[in-house]
Amino acid sequence: MSKVPEIKPAADTALQDIRANLEFIREQIAKAMDKAGRSDTVRIMAVTKTVEVDKINYAESLGIDLLGENRVQEFLGKYENYSENSEIHFIGGLQNNKVKYIIDKVRMIHSVDSIKLAEEISRRALSKNLVMDILLEVNIGNELSKGGFSDTELTEAAKVIEELQGVRIRGLMTIPPPFEGERYFPCMQELYEELKAKEKGLSGMDTLSMGMSGDYATAVKYGSNIVRIGSGLFGYRSYIK
Ligand SMILES: *Cc1c(COP(=O)(O)O)cnc(C)c1O
Repeated sequence: MSKVPEIKPAADTALQDIRANLEFIREQIAKAMDKAGRSDTVRIMAVTKTVEVDKINYAESLGIDLLGENRVQEFLGKYENYSENSEIHFIGGLQNNKVKYIIDKVRMIHSVDSIKLAEEISRRALSKNLVMDILLEVNIGNELSKGGFSDTELTEAAKVIEELQGVRIRGLMTIPPPFEGERYFPCMQELYEELKAKEKGLSGMDTLSMGMSGDYATAVKYGSNIVRIGSGLFGYRSYIK
């Protein structure tokens, strides 16, 4: 087993650091899967904010085929340089008036945090003759600084959004308070399973997006099947988002 890689500032990360980081992440996920007795799959999403295209392309050459985008403007300037094989998901805070720029360029939107946003996504998707896959973002720690549905609002919101013709609810996404994964990921797993069981139209949900560089192994323990990794792969960012 390789030793824990040193995480450098993103600007100083060399390609071989990215390779070592990814190897380590894959090992940690495999171990967590094993411990949890899971035999399904966990996808590793490379979160690309502030990362140069050559580093993203290098990660793609190592088998990364899922990219997570936070910022509309940055994404529009970069995406044409990505591999055609990569699936792109939008994961950042999204204003209604920006939906039109990304609607035909991403496969899934993880950060649906209001009914109004879901309505706009649906409207824009239908105008392009498509149905957008979405995740409902849950503010599981009820933090004032974060968007997302509270656990108590979730079912009612899902019922309304489920009726929109231009979106398909594929599952849930969350960013728990830092260092509190062990406390909040089990709640998310429960919410996800409950919603699947309770809402007939949502029984086909298949995506639980949770876990970032600091807590992805814990998230895997509680059923996450997309982990979103930025700094753990590319090095830490000099500014935070
Ligand atoms: C930045 C970001 C990540 C990745 O964070 P790291 O801690 O750098 O791995 C994951 N999800 C979202 C929504 C993000 O904005």
